Amino acid sequence: MAKITRKPAPRKKPVPKKKATATVAKPKLPAKKSAPAKKSLKATRPNSIKSIKPWTPAEIHEVFSRFRKANPEPKGELEHVNPFTLLVAVVLSAQATDAGVNKATRALFEVADTPQKMLDLGEESLRDYIKTIGLYRTKAKNVIGLSAKLLSEFGGEVPRTRAEIESLPGAGRKTANVVLNMAFGEHTMAVDTHVFRLGNRTGLAPGKTPLEVELGLEKVIPAEFMLHAHHWLILHGRYTCLARKPRCEVCLINDLCRWPEKTV
Ligand code: SF4
Repeated sequence: MAKITRKPAPRKKPVPKKKATATVAKPKLPAKKSAPAKKSLKATRPNSIKSIKPWTPAEIHEVFSRFRKANPEPKGELEHVNPFTLLVAVVLSAQATDAGVNKATRALFEVADTPQKMLDLGEESLRDYIKTIGLYRTKAKNVIGLSAKLLSEFGGEVPRTRAEIESLPGAGRKTANVVLNMAFGEHTMAVDTHVFRLGNRTGLAPGKTPLEVELGLEKVIPAEFMLHAHHWLILHGRYTCLARKPRCEVCLINDLCRWPEKTV
């Protein structure tokens, strides 16, 4: 039997002894300030929807009666001269203020108030008119695209159904709701940032998405108020129930509002 010869184990290198050093205490860093809580959509939602006392139909009727009494014929603030210019103004207003859009469209609608005139103007010239509005390049492209589609598929008229309006370049659900309501008198509820905030804050129609709030509001607002409800809510959000500092002390509905943080 062959003898197994084992290799001697390699010698371990002596580990150098650590020099004794004085331990230096780490300097204490000042405690990090916690970042301010991000303002999010959640900030407008009461902590527990369940804890909110549900609105009664009589209370909701009272809210909208007060809005109606204060402003019987509320008007939207986007300037337009016909359904087409309304559609264009709404498409241009995405992530822009109504005042900023009006400033640009006053001159634009003088020269292009129909789809054909808009096409004749052309994308490059259109860009010049609207260059003060955010995302104007994309918006110019969409306005030219929707003008062409109106001419080729809808006889140059703004269509009257949600699906058809939403099929136009740059037009989504909110655009369709505004156009259907303002141009054609339909009982739609366009949910912008103000309406979304109000639906949640007041507890009238809490929802995590604009669609949830839209459907919630449509469900609870009596039909007699639906034609103007969208404008009353927008104007209330824009001038009274402000995002950062709601003016609860002058709010028409402060006794009914369910927001736990209201200041009255
Ligand atoms: S009471 Fe205050 S929070 Fe409630 S709707 Fe009025 S302004 Fe908004």
